[in-house]
Amino acid sequence: MKDIILLNREKPMYKGNLHLHTTWSDGRLPADEVVNVFKAKGYHFISLSDHDVYTRTTEFDTTDFITLPGTERGELNQVPDKNPGYHFGVLDDPTVEPREERYPHLHAFPVPVPWIGDHSPQLLIDELRDRGNLVVFNHPEWHLTRFEDMVKYDGFFAVEIYNHSTEWSTASSYGTAYWDHALQNGKRVFGIAADDSHTHQPDWAIPEYGGGWIQVQADALAQTEVIRSLKQGQFYSSSGPEVFDLRVENGELRIECSPCKFIMFKAFPQRGPFYGNFATGKPLTSATATIEEDMIYIRVECVDFEGNVAWTNPVFVEDLLK
Ligand SMILES: [Zn+2]
Ligand SMILES: [Zn+2]
Repeated sequence: MKDIILLNREKPMYKGNLHLHTTWSDGRLPADEVVNVFKAKGYHFISLSDHDVYTRTTEFDTTDFITLPGTERGELNQVPDKNPGYHFGVLDDPTVEPREERYPHLHAFPVPVPWIGDHSPQLLIDELRDRGNLVVFNHPEWHLTRFEDMVKYDGFFAVEIYNHSTEWSTASSYGTAYWDHALQNGKRVFGIAADDSHTHQPDWAIPEYGGGWIQVQADALAQTEVIRSLKQGQFYSSSGPEVFDLRVENGELRIECSPCKFIMFKAFPQRGPFYGNFATGKPLTSATATIEEDMIYIRVECVDFEGNVAWTNPVFVEDLLK
């Protein structure tokens, strides 16, 4: 079995939020104020992912902060105003040559997207990819998505596994069961945590801003480098804990993280091990799991003492056996 480094403690991480809204759609704050909120919180990048309006800004970019072009495309429902509905996170991918012209800044998409059969979500994904974008399957739990849709549709590179604003609004934040369903059926998709912040004030005690994010390991803070790392899964998601290092050595997956209550390995078709100092409550900062050759994937969740979670991307075991 090969040794690989998924997250390297020696390399820089860049913190980002790929899902939020501004006054370009139904957000409370204009883009420049949203940018300042995230800069003040120490983020390195955000995507101004307004509903059905493509954003492509450079005026907010500095040496330690960038905006990634994108949108949230949606209002695609088989029955208008009823679920399941489909929203897709969209990120401009400068590492590909698009089949068709890229979307310009403030390009407005027609909504609702007409439902013309079960293939309608696929047509939308394909159109976004043809225009040079990566696609994220957003908030499946909130949209009451059917599990089979994770397998039926193709071309999304990630599933939104934590959506912070649906945690405080509708208790439907977690897309991890959908993610595992996709992974168990052979999909190679990553997990993304994000805010989806809309209308709260950023300084409220129960915050809508800064609740879910990703940490990307990239060679530089630049759109091309961040997108390249996203496509390779060189990032993790979090609502609290930090992951410092993740690697496979001698057939074992080892993680190092900030002090946590539990470290749990999720694998398929057999369960991975879980760790907690149950008698003493002493925090854990590392754990290892033996990788079995017949596993399809193995990923890690670290849970802190407040119940916040860090999710690593899966290790695809077939890649270790090549
Ligand atoms: Zn949405
Ligand atoms: Zn949204």
